[in-house]
Amino acid sequence: MKKNSVIFTMLLLLSVVVSCGERQKANKSGEGADSTVVLRNGQLQVIGTQLCNEQGEPFILRGASLGWHNLWPRFYNKQAVSWLADDWKCTVVRAAMGLEIEDNYRENPDFAMQCITPVIEGAIEKGIYVIIDFHAHKKYTEEAKTFFAEMATKYGKHPNVIYEIWNEPDYFEWDEVKAYSEEVIEVIRTIDPDNIILVGSPHWDQDLHLVAADPIQNVSNIMYTMHFYAATHEAWLRERTDAAIADGIPIFVSECGGSEANGDGRLGVEEWETYVEWMESRKISWVAWSVSDKNETCSMLLPRASDEGNWTEDLLKPWGVLTRNSIRNHSDLPIKTIL
Ligand code: MG
Repeated sequence: MKKNSVIFTMLLLLSVVVSCGERQKANKSGEGADSTVVLRNGQLQVIGTQLCNEQGEPFILRGASLGWHNLWPRFYNKQAVSWLADDWKCTVVRAAMGLEIEDNYRENPDFAMQCITPVIEGAIEKGIYVIIDFHAHKKYTEEAKTFFAEMATKYGKHPNVIYEIWNEPDYFEWDEVKAYSEEVIEVIRTIDPDNIILVGSPHWDQDLHLVAADPIQNVSNIMYTMHFYAATHEAWLRERTDAAIADGIPIFVSECGGSEANGDGRLGVEEWETYVEWMESRKISWVAWSVSDKNETCSMLLPRASDEGNWTEDLLKPWGVLTRNSIRNHSDLPIKTIL
């Protein structure tokens, strides 16, 4: 009996060692049940001013935004999302559903859905997070309520999804933006009680001092967006954001760039690095603008880049190279050269 129990114990230990080894092997190879970013981090939540994972640990998302769906529909596909996850190490992508410029969601909702659906579903399949961005500069309250009711019904059960309800209010007062946001948030929260909601602020998401003076009350898991373009926006915007955080405002940088504020002009590499280090030091999530092929500084790709990824470095414009490096350099995911 004694001998049997020793043998049994040895077998048990051996099976534990083998199963641990298998688990490590699975994680290393990118397979295994907990190998995706979303499987590991689950349902995101806001604790205080910090984005946290399901376990309550501070969590930083880093990624890229697609350009307007109605200008660059060719990048709205699962393969591009997969490439951004695998090669760029994006843990989040942003689908910028245009509400302005011709052929937008208001004029052609079917086309908008055809574009954003593979991006959202590609991100879910890939196990990364995805921002569904209502890419508007003006106010379309009824359209937003209809749209987000549909999105929350379809995708609210997926921890992957983050709702961005108004990209950048241009010339609206905070009380107008706040009233709009409260209406849209109510629609989403009636259907989806928990996924993160991103809220804009006046002047292209820069007036966070106005938010801090009068924030939205009694809603959990909302964050406010700050957008910057490093070659234009200097230390004052970081200082203003720091002050808002100190006042209890959770911040998410859902769009940013190294160019000037119009998306063109000089690429401010040093200013960009300063901004990235600032975001990282404050554990602020960030998403760079944009995966597009326009002849302007903030476009990441050349026109001859394919629709579906496989973007070698010669297909990336300087801003694409810089973004990819910044994401990869800060990523805690294993870096594997695919090309
Ligand atoms: Mg949910």
